[in-house]
Amino acid sequence: MADGDAGPSKNFIQTIIEDDLKNNKNDGRVHTRFPPEPNGYLHIGHAKSICLNFGLAQEYKGQCNLRFDDTNPSKEDTEYVDSIQDDVRWLGFDWDDRKFYASDYFDKLHDYAVELIKGGHAYVCELNAEDMREFRGTLTEPGKNSPHRDRAPEENLDLFARMKAGEIDEGKYTLRAKIDMASPNMNLRDPVIYRVQKSHHHRTGDTWCIYPMYDFAHGLSDSLEGITHSICTLEFENHRPLYDWILEKLGVHHPQQIEFARLNLTRTVMSKRKLRELVEQGHVRGWDDPRMPTISGMRRRGYTASAIREFCKTIGITKFNGTIEMSLLESVLRKELNTVALRTMAVLNPVKLIIDNYPDDQVEMMSAVNNPQDPEAGKREVPFSKELWIERDDFAEVPPKKWRRMTVGKSVRLRYGYIIDCTHIVKDDAGVITEIHCSYDAETRSGTGTSERKVKGAIHWVSAAHAKGAEVRLYDYLLKDPEECEDKDDFLACLNPNSLKVQTAYVEPGMKDAAAGSPYQFERTAYFTLDKESQSDKLVFNRIVTLRDSFSKKQKKGGQQKKGGQQKKGGQQKKQKKQQD
Ligand code: ATP
Ligand code: MG
Repeated sequence: MADGDAGPSKNFIQTIIEDDLKNNKNDGRVHTRFPPEPNGYLHIGHAKSICLNFGLAQEYKGQCNLRFDDTNPSKEDTEYVDSIQDDVRWLGFDWDDRKFYASDYFDKLHDYAVELIKGGHAYVCELNAEDMREFRGTLTEPGKNSPHRDRAPEENLDLFARMKAGEIDEGKYTLRAKIDMASPNMNLRDPVIYRVQKSHHHRTGDTWCIYPMYDFAHGLSDSLEGITHSICTLEFENHRPLYDWILEKLGVHHPQQIEFARLNLTRTVMSKRKLRELVEQGHVRGWDDPRMPTISGMRRRGYTASAIREFCKTIGITKFNGTIEMSLLESVLRKELNTVALRTMAVLNPVKLIIDNYPDDQVEMMSAVNNPQDPEAGKREVPFSKELWIERDDFAEVPPKKWRRMTVGKSVRLRYGYIIDCTHIVKDDAGVITEIHCSYDAETRSGTGTSERKVKGAIHWVSAAHAKGAEVRLYDYLLKDPEECEDKDDFLACLNPNSLKVQTAYVEPGMKDAAAGSPYQFERTAYFTLDKESQSDKLVFNRIVTLRDSFSKKQKKGGQQKKGGQQKKGGQQKKQKKQQD
């Protein structure tokens, strides 16, 4: 680095742009675009592209357009157009007045096609799909010229006009670019640039019965909008010669196409086609099901836009395809939630705790800290009484070694409350514990108590008479662990049957006023947020993410304390836990 700047290193696209700016290429402009096809909802992979394109425009004081690549009328819908705009805005980006549609350019694209025909660079071909495939050759064998390749421009113009006029049936004629049937790059073997398709378009209605192919429309739309850097994913790398060929032959403004590696994440799927399958076959409850990797699903689940942006920054931009662990996204999310989420107590798997020596009708208001990470978040009052709900898991009849929670004969602190001594339990006929009994030490009230007594464990609780019942939806990954998946190529067979577990929990009474869209930390369990289906008489919460990753929990349960790297990880986890307390 020439300047020895200690700032974060630049990715290869920033380097290209900075060189271009130095050389005053494009008159020093930076203009990018995010070009979704409105045939599904956006997913977290798209978020990477959105952060990149809008982020570069911000960084270099340029502009970024939102453009709908709506050249395939059979799969597109205005529902998708609306959701895409919501998602981009929610992620924190703005296209101002630069919302475009490839379909806005249909007239111009048609005229460009006519120009190519006139220049002898395109022809109408009568081969059907099957013959065309055969004539195309293979990766190892060159293709064969179409018998219609050398028609005169006048004849081509006439046939193309007849295609446009609706005289030709679908699949019969196509307009093809005349490039090179022997090219080692299959995309240059006279690709189709226009096809007959007699379908209704969500914006142009029935005006057109010929539609441009993606590769033709895309580069020309970039050109028409004055885009300078056309950023796309790696699979378009060998479409670049075609992108360049079209713009060169027409002699129009020529953006530079630059490819980067798409985002792949473990334990989920990242293709609109597969996501649509999940929705249409009812494996999930819609595009915004909180298990989906869609932006709307993540938003509903309680992910924050800034955590997603931070994640995109963390993974960076490269030219090499790879797969990112879902746990990385979760750890970025936890880090942010830990600083912003208000704390509250909720019991997910309840059992009754009865304090035998506590006065029957007494209710005390206990003062609880809303967010230890944020002094401005203040405190709240939580009612405490004789009968409480506590987590079943916080009691053990036969405690394991180093058990710090409840068991008969031991003491724990009730968070923000008193130290209690566990005396006995009551079971039903089936042997299930129905009541845990204890006595409390009145001198140990949190904050104001005079006792010096200390105990190692603290557990959370809610007052049975005051708590609100709530449905909690506990999400797990959409896909099973690949090791448990027999046929990895069949993603439907890899769906995790336990991706949603619904339970009834008890929450603090104050949670009836929980703010929609805000994350909460249910102390000691997980982060939650109110679901859109929640109602004042039936609260519903989505689990956003657990407090620690299940890998480390599994390790602890199995007692496999390994040395070296694993040990270190355990240490980090402990630190994280401390922060969250
Ligand atoms: P999918 O393969 O999921 O159907 P797509 O590429 O067909 O996605 P588009 O609507 O064409 O979806 O994508 C809009 C933009 O988002 C494109 O520039 C595309 O390259 C980019 N994009 C799509 N998926 C990813 C991903 N997983 N990672 C990064 N960028 C992506
Ligand atoms: Mg696409």
